[in-house]
Amino acid sequence: MQAPERQAESPFRGLYTEVHAFWLAGMSCDGCSIAVTGATNPSVEDLLTGALPGLPRIVLHHPVLDVDAGERFVSWYERAARGELGAPYVVIYEGSVPDEEVAAETGGYWSGMGVREVGGTRQPMPTAEWLRRLAPGAAAVIAIGTCATWGGIPAAIGNPTGAMSVMDFLGPEYRSALGLPVINIPGCSPVGDNFTETVAAILLFLQGLGPLPEFDELGRPAWLFRETVHRQCTRGGYYEEGVFADEYGDRECLVELGCWGPVVQCNITARGAINHLGGCMNVGGVCIGCTMPGFPDRFSPFYKAPPGSLLSSTQAKFYGALTRRLRRLTNLYMNRETEWDAAGRVPSGWGRVEEPSLPVRLVHTIYDRLRLRGAEPPGRTKPAERYAGGYEVPAVVARQRRQKR
Ligand code: SF4
Repeated sequence: MQAPERQAESPFRGLYTEVHAFWLAGMSCDGCSIAVTGATNPSVEDLLTGALPGLPRIVLHHPVLDVDAGERFVSWYERAARGELGAPYVVIYEGSVPDEEVAAETGGYWSGMGVREVGGTRQPMPTAEWLRRLAPGAAAVIAIGTCATWGGIPAAIGNPTGAMSVMDFLGPEYRSALGLPVINIPGCSPVGDNFTETVAAILLFLQGLGPLPEFDELGRPAWLFRETVHRQCTRGGYYEEGVFADEYGDRECLVELGCWGPVVQCNITARGAINHLGGCMNVGGVCIGCTMPGFPDRFSPFYKAPPGSLLSSTQAKFYGALTRRLRRLTNLYMNRETEWDAAGRVPSGWGRVEEPSLPVRLVHTIYDRLRLRGAEPPGRTKPAERYAGGYEVPAVVARQRRQKR
């Protein structure tokens, strides 16, 4: 996405020492908060202490993690909503936004934080109302997790609460004070680093020290969600060679067990869940498409192989079988020192190493001819390059040395 014109005149541009972050939780399980606390690059601690050069310190207001409580905690939100904060702020929304009009029909509410006066009584303030009040003045509104970005589980078919995404709630015309539409960082739960890295990039932009990060047409950080899970999967090599897991716990590709990785945009296989560790396919789970707007309805029933995977796995099995066998031949050949071939034995004390058969040697003789065509062969083969004393072909000299021992 290109930087909108308004950004050049943004009232926020300048070097700030502090930026407030107002966290709101709607229909949420708090999994996004937990995921973010595991981020390492940068970590929440880095952001909160202002440890990153050029970035302002984040003053986090979080309903679970904050040390303030009660009215003192809520008073910060009030000041921001009234435009009295005196510092820029971002809004982070976790969970989907419920339709409070549905709840109001029965005199209740779905999700609240703090209180407000209603009919002379103090009633819970819906988080949807906080979002409506805080969004216009925010430098950016960041929806974190699939519930906030696309509605997620609470908005699945049936949807008794009328749950929706932040984007659905604020509408396509919404722009933050920096001129940005809603920024979406999906995942259930999201990769914590995806969030902190995006926040850091936005803060650099806010400071005028970096460009506006690139977002795709759905407001996802493009550099994080451009690729599919499959393209970065540690099991991709098995897929390519047409080798598939029969059951959970196997180490091969999981597509026949219901993995949606080939069509899902997510970087968890490359980045891991926390500090490059874990992550669905990395630890044996299939991709159920949790980062996608179609989740969960279009991916359920989970763990049932989609019909498209049958087509792709069948073709992978077909060409993969040949590729696998040819690679095995080369692997056998490359697993040997040239000296071992010259000596006709492998001096390993760990066990007998299979000798390449005549066909394998033949194939590799041809293969090496092709490999070396138009290139310099390894070793000092030209007269001008030879060592003094007639040293010519290293393998021959090595054999002579061994014979003398
Ligand atoms: Fe692709 Fe899933 Fe197989 Fe990984 S496990 S290679 S994402 S199909």
